[in-house]
Amino acid sequence: MKIICDTHVHSDNSFDGNSSVFEICEAALDKGINTVIITDHMEAPEIRLGDRSVYGNAVKSITKSVADVEEVSEKFKGKVKLLKGMELGEPMHMPKMTGKALAIADFDFILASIHNLKDKEDFYYLDYNNENVDDLLSKYFEELLDTALNADFDSLAHLTYPLRYIYERTDIRPDLDNYSEIIDEIFLALIKRDKALEINTSGLFKEIKSTLPDINMVRRFKELGGKYVTIGSDAHNQKDLAKGVEQGIELAKTCGFNYYTVFEKRTPKYIEIWY
Ligand SMILES: [Zn+2]
Ligand SMILES: [Zn+2]
Repeated sequence: MKIICDTHVHSDNSFDGNSSVFEICEAALDKGINTVIITDHMEAPEIRLGDRSVYGNAVKSITKSVADVEEVSEKFKGKVKLLKGMELGEPMHMPKMTGKALAIADFDFILASIHNLKDKEDFYYLDYNNENVDDLLSKYFEELLDTALNADFDSLAHLTYPLRYIYERTDIRPDLDNYSEIIDEIFLALIKRDKALEINTSGLFKEIKSTLPDINMVRRFKELGGKYVTIGSDAHNQKDLAKGVEQGIELAKTCGFNYYTVFEKRTPKYIEIWY
C-alpha cells in the first residue's frame, strides 16, 4: 500500500514558515498524505537570547508549535496523523541550551541540523566568493560528526546543506569524494547509535537538483549498514507539503531500502516501500 509521510515540515511557528498547522493538515488531507511531522526551527543556542533572538523567542515558538499540533491533531483524528517534532539546530554548540530545548515537550521526533558553524553565520548568509569553501565544508563535516556521535536526536537533517547555497550562488562544484572518509565516519556513528539519515527532497527543486544528501551518499549509508532513513520535504508552506517525497521514497528503494522510517514517541516505525 502506498503510504506517504512527510517528516520535515515547518509551520508559521518557524520564523521562515508561512502556513498554520491547520492549513498544513488541510493540505495533507487534500494530497493524501498519511502522516505529517511538524518540525519547527529551534536554533538551540538562540535560547539564551530570549526575545532578543533575530529568529524570535525560540522557547515560545516551539511551545506554540507543540500546542498547535496537539489541538489540530484532534480535529484531523483518523484522517491525518500529525506528530510533534522539532528541527534542533546546532545541538552541540551549547549543550545546556539544547537540554532546555529538548525538555520543552514530549516530542515524537528530533531532527538534528547544522545551519551554521561555531562563530559563523548561517550558510544561507555566507558570501562564498570570499570564503574558503573547502575549509568551510571540512568544518561542517567535523561538526556533523560530533553531532552524530554525541547529540540527542533521531535523524540527521539535510546532510550537505551548504551545497544548496554554493550551487545557487557560485560556479564552485565541490568534489565530495574529498570528504568521503569523514562522511563514512558520520554514517558509521549514525548506524552505531541507531539514528536515521534524512533524505531531504527540497534540493530536487533548487539549483543543485538532487536530494540532500544525494543518491550516492544514501547508497553508501546503506552499504555501511544503515537501517533508518526518514524522508522530508522541508516545506515552509502548505503548497510545498510532501513535495518530492515520493521521489525520495523511490530513491531510498533504489539504494536498497525496502522500508523508510517515521518516528513516533522517539521510536522508529518502518513504513514498507511499495515500489
Ligand atoms: Zn534546516
Ligand atoms: Zn527545515
